[in-house]
Amino acid sequence: MTTLAAPAPVADLLRRQRAYWASGATRSLDFRLERLKALRAAIVKYQADIIDAAKQDLGRPEFEGYIEVAAISELDYTMGHLRRWIKPRKASLPLSQRPGSAWVQPEPLGVMLIIGPWNYPFQLMVSPLMGAIAAGNCTILKPSELAPATSGVLAQLVKDTFDPAHVAVVEGGIDTAQALLAEKFDHIFFTGGERVGKIVMQAAAQHLTPVTLELGGKSPCIVDADVNLEVAARRIVWGKFLNAGQTCVAPDYLLVDERVRDSLVAALSQRIRACYGDNPATSPDLSRVVNDRQFDRLVGLLDQGNILVGGQHSRGDRYIAPTLIDGVGWDAPIMQEEIFGPILPILTYRDLGDAIAAVNQRPKPLALYLFTRDRQVQTQVLEQTTAGSVCINDVILQIAVWDMPFGGVGSSGMGSYHGQHSFDTFSHLKSVVKKPFWLDIDWRYPPYEGKLDRFRKFVGLPKD
Ligand code: NAD
Repeated sequence: MTTLAAPAPVADLLRRQRAYWASGATRSLDFRLERLKALRAAIVKYQADIIDAAKQDLGRPEFEGYIEVAAISELDYTMGHLRRWIKPRKASLPLSQRPGSAWVQPEPLGVMLIIGPWNYPFQLMVSPLMGAIAAGNCTILKPSELAPATSGVLAQLVKDTFDPAHVAVVEGGIDTAQALLAEKFDHIFFTGGERVGKIVMQAAAQHLTPVTLELGGKSPCIVDADVNLEVAARRIVWGKFLNAGQTCVAPDYLLVDERVRDSLVAALSQRIRACYGDNPATSPDLSRVVNDRQFDRLVGLLDQGNILVGGQHSRGDRYIAPTLIDGVGWDAPIMQEEIFGPILPILTYRDLGDAIAAVNQRPKPLALYLFTRDRQVQTQVLEQTTAGSVCINDVILQIAVWDMPFGGVGSSGMGSYHGQHSFDTFSHLKSVVKKPFWLDIDWRYPPYEGKLDRFRKFVGLPKD
């Protein structure tokens, strides 16, 4: 990657944040809690603007717009637990090192860079931001230029709420992101696609800056024969067509036991009609595709199989109907790339082992969904597959359990966040050992003669 010189305002902002961080101003618990409270108040104040911006950027229905401001629930969780997270964590000293004490002391890292995507353009900036503030850092946020209305509201909200020496938004596109990436940060938190994830990691390597990469991929949804089909269909349709399929953890494709394939397709079609009506183009509850480029890419995927339901589209308002498609092979382009739109391919399997093998032949997914009542099937799938996270008999909800890490594995990402995992991601967990003076056994010091047996015993080596 070409290293660009950062434009003067970015370099200046970074200098100010570094100085502010070094002053120690961000470190006290009171400061962190007060700033998180201010962020909460600002989200409440700006909620109508945030929801309206999501509507402008993505044609989001108001209801789904609230997902952006639902970040407040994680903020409350963070404020409720921060007093505990911030405390030193006691560690146990091996017998050989006693007397003494040991603990892990979380400390802030410094200046953070958070780069976000367009699909949940507010929520995916604010969620890592609260972790960065909670951990006592300064932060520069670079929202996606492809959701310009939200980027503008976020910039305004942050400007109104924070000293730019503590938290600031730098708006812009690829050039801006690259100018920021050319600078040295203490941690980079990136949410976006795999391709750009590699660019971010390469840039970070120049400064040996650690990265968290929250990427995407194809999240499979396995449907076994032993299910409540109607409930499964309700949940799948909701999770797939929410935000017009532009959700990183949306079920990307279905892998269905062939015995229930027909009844599941019938239940899914019925649910699509129940949710979006006979003509989803007129439904107030269906989002639009973000831009023409994504629209053209998605329309290109439509002729790769048999359309069972949907398939209608109109470029003028970037509308694509909720679509079920079958007759696609594993080699079809639609099965090679993350769909990230309202198109759901349906593949079948006869033997669960084959379905598992097919999933395992592909890159490790961000999420894996499994619908079944059968405990053995649950265990088999959990033990024989890997994924960033799993939800059994539902979709997407696993990412809103603040007590669990959210992140990918393999090409779906590295590192994790949410709740304490955010706090830890944005902290250095410093190990500390403290020894008293009153006992100082001689066996470890030279001259070593006659001391080896004792040393071997100490470290647990067997006698010759
Ligand atoms: P993207 O990778 O295209 O862009 C993300 C950010 O990177 C934007 O802010 C953009 O300005 C910047 N960027 C783009 N090109 C760049 C370049 N060459 N150099 C430096 N910065 C650059 O992603 P997107 O299209 O905005 O988002 C969609 C992707 O994000 C999907 O793959 C989706 O699965 C993934 N995603 C993952 C999560 C998660 O939490 N794991 C959440 C949402 C989206």
